[in-house]
Amino acid sequence: MDSQSLIPVADRFAPFGTTIFAEMTALAREHGAVNLSQGFPDFDGPALAKDAAAAAIARGDNQYAPMPGIPELRDAIRGWFGASSGLDVDPEREITVTSGCTEALAAAFLGLMNPGDEVVVFEPFYDSYRACLAMCGARARFVTMRRGDGRYSFDEAELRGAFGARTRAVLVNTPHNPTGTVLTRDELELIRDLCVEHDAIAIVDEVYEKLVYDESTPHIHLASLDGMRDRTLTLSSLGKTFSLTGWKVGWAIGAPGLTAGVRAAHQFLTFSVATPLQHGAAVALRDGEDSVRELVAHYRAMRDLLGEALARVGFGVWAPEGSYFIMADHSAVSGRLGLRDDVELCRHLTSEVGVAAIPPSAFYHDPADGASAVRFAFCKTEATIRAAIERLERGLG
Ligand code: PMP
Ligand code: GLN
Repeated sequence: MDSQSLIPVADRFAPFGTTIFAEMTALAREHGAVNLSQGFPDFDGPALAKDAAAAAIARGDNQYAPMPGIPELRDAIRGWFGASSGLDVDPEREITVTSGCTEALAAAFLGLMNPGDEVVVFEPFYDSYRACLAMCGARARFVTMRRGDGRYSFDEAELRGAFGARTRAVLVNTPHNPTGTVLTRDELELIRDLCVEHDAIAIVDEVYEKLVYDESTPHIHLASLDGMRDRTLTLSSLGKTFSLTGWKVGWAIGAPGLTAGVRAAHQFLTFSVATPLQHGAAVALRDGEDSVRELVAHYRAMRDLLGEALARVGFGVWAPEGSYFIMADHSAVSGRLGLRDDVELCRHLTSEVGVAAIPPSAFYHDPADGASAVRFAFCKTEATIRAAIERLERGLG
């Protein structure tokens, strides 16, 4: 219990404490460390989006937006999703604008799950997933992604074993935070087959959908696979693709029955999303193709620059296929320094070396599974990445 307050935090949130992102960013500030922990760009999003949002404010578009989102943005999402998935969705009945993907996730769980339902969750997982499960009373069946041949993936038998009579949904994140894995068509087809066999739905978090670096590992929408259109809820947001994480504009796309569940919760969570930002988002999705191309080229270069430097100072590194994170093995570095696990390593990196990173044990239900890894974000300017490299080489080289 917070000593200042008379009422303790509700039991359902007690296990989660403060998110690791807020904790590490605060620690980075305290030590003046280069912050490669929480994933947010240290540069601005495209002018065309900002100008459109500013114009909406100036012309007085400042009252509540319609509950499911302004029509212009829902049309833009339809075009955006259609272009990469080949699917045509109905903006009236199949698209809901949410406050970031975070709210889309919460609305999906609260609006579609009942207490006792089981949800198959891959780990390492994005931290809000477990809190969402706790909020709706659903139970997680974890499937652990492990380091294999140059990438993290899951075991087919383990995934099959996680599905059962009570399975209501599988929660998929591709491209994956923190491992950078982009699920292959074969992997997605296996997930599809299990969903069909168990009459389960798929909730797919695609916030890194455009941040993929190799033609050989494209992002594939699970919703676009045969049999999945009507049993998939696709969630995404503007934040990563347009470097506007602070706008918190996201969306959920799903068949009318799934959308009805999302909206049932959304109308009472936030009701609607900041109107002027929705106007800015519509322009970004419609006209922002060039900025996405430039961003991906920059991130590919930063992935390689940081990845090579991490390898030089002793980390085990695989180039991530997508996302803006490198999940490295720190065993050799920690061994040299006499540090025990990811938490000790991240504290040492932040306070002694001057580079903050995330300890991935926060992303596993058994923290031991993440103890030998460390996550670095490379969504930064080249100057920031070079400053981090200089410190890593000085402190660990
Ligand atoms: N899912 C994943 C996998 C993420 O990394 C993030 C980033 N914060 C989110 C969801 C949340 O997205 P948003 O900022 O749009 O709420
Ligand atoms: N998605 C970001 C990350 O993984 C953090 C978002 C947040 O702080 N909630 O670093």
